[in-house]
Amino acid sequence: MSKENLQMPDEKGYFGEYGGQIIPPPLIEIMNEINDAYDKVTQTESFQQELQQLYADYVGRPSPIYFAQRLTDEVGGARIFFKREDLNHTGAHKINHCLGEALLAKYMGKTKVLAETGAGQHGVALATACALVGIDCEIHMGEIDIEKEHPNVTKMKILGCTLVPVSRGTRTLKDAVDSAFEEYLKDPANYFYAIGSVVGPHPFPKIVRDFQSIVGKEAREQFLAREDRLPDVLIACVGGGSNAMGLFTAFLEDEDVRMIGVEPAGKGLDTDEHAATLTLGTKGAIHGFECYNIQDKDGNPLPVYSIASGLDYPGVGPQHCHLKDIKRVTYEAVDDQACLDAFMQVSRLEGIIPALESAHAIAHAMKIAREMPDDKTILVNLSGRGDKDADFVAERLSL
Ligand SMILES: *Cc1c(COP(=O)(O)O)cnc(C)c1O
Repeated sequence: MSKENLQMPDEKGYFGEYGGQIIPPPLIEIMNEINDAYDKVTQTESFQQELQQLYADYVGRPSPIYFAQRLTDEVGGARIFFKREDLNHTGAHKINHCLGEALLAKYMGKTKVLAETGAGQHGVALATACALVGIDCEIHMGEIDIEKEHPNVTKMKILGCTLVPVSRGTRTLKDAVDSAFEEYLKDPANYFYAIGSVVGPHPFPKIVRDFQSIVGKEAREQFLAREDRLPDVLIACVGGGSNAMGLFTAFLEDEDVRMIGVEPAGKGLDTDEHAATLTLGTKGAIHGFECYNIQDKDGNPLPVYSIASGLDYPGVGPQHCHLKDIKRVTYEAVDDQACLDAFMQVSRLEGIIPALESAHAIAHAMKIAREMPDDKTILVNLSGRGDKDADFVAERLSL
């Protein structure tokens, strides 16, 4: 891996052909201000100290590396390890970048942090970070999602954010994005739009990746310390791609470490119900940047589907697109059934209920472990815990 690749994106926010700022000129100016402030602020001792302290005392970092002995014995072949992001405060990796973004907004003197949320995971993580940092938070959410995601809606209310129900159009995530963005445009100089993954216009794919890269930094050290070598394979699920970039970034230069991103094949790659953006998508623009997209021939985003609501995004982070093209990372797809099987097996063999998102990554690890010798190792990013999915799975499987 060349240095050039590690220093991505370039000045215009491109990772090879992907990324950039596909937004109106006044907004480009605002994004560039955020970029400058980010570069400056994150180099200061006080910002880094505050963030590292919060990662340690508030999030509970470093999250452990765990050897899944019983799962490994059951599957056979390579040993399977988990990076336990499910043990973080709020139960997933999202708190890593939400804390960073909320802190950056505070350092920049912004008055309000805004975002949309679909299933409510990003909303809860951001509302948590904003409560802690002491900055106003406004979350836009479709009315249909509000009905479906009751526990997360309640949590956001308790955490003190302003929840804005979106009643237009589909009354789901797509219209919540438009609604939140309109509010943002009312005063972009004083508001901060906190993007929930390594997507959106430059500099967000970079900012979110950097805040998440703590995951791989820790994992690399922890794995070396306990196994005296690096893992042979890294696996992470990919929605927008933040937990995967978080794990992969520290290993990009380690040419012997294979990396696999796992997308949702949903009800099958031969149906319309999947969100396998990198596997089946074509290049186009969405939400202010260029990437592989699930789109019609006129470039309009098509509906996507996954059993895991955190993975159903029609685009994907620009760095993943580049890493696919240069063949540094391979991308595979796992369907609903394999995801559910992995969810149940890990729950019953390890006493760990994984998020349905993370279960996609585990399913693929189980599939390839079988074909690998038992002196090889696989490290899976266990991006979140599955409490949020427990009722749904129990009903689906008539437990
Ligand atoms: C949101 C979420 C994801 C997907 O987001 P990425 O940006 O692709 O990481 C994965 N796992 C969990 C537990 C999530 O909450």
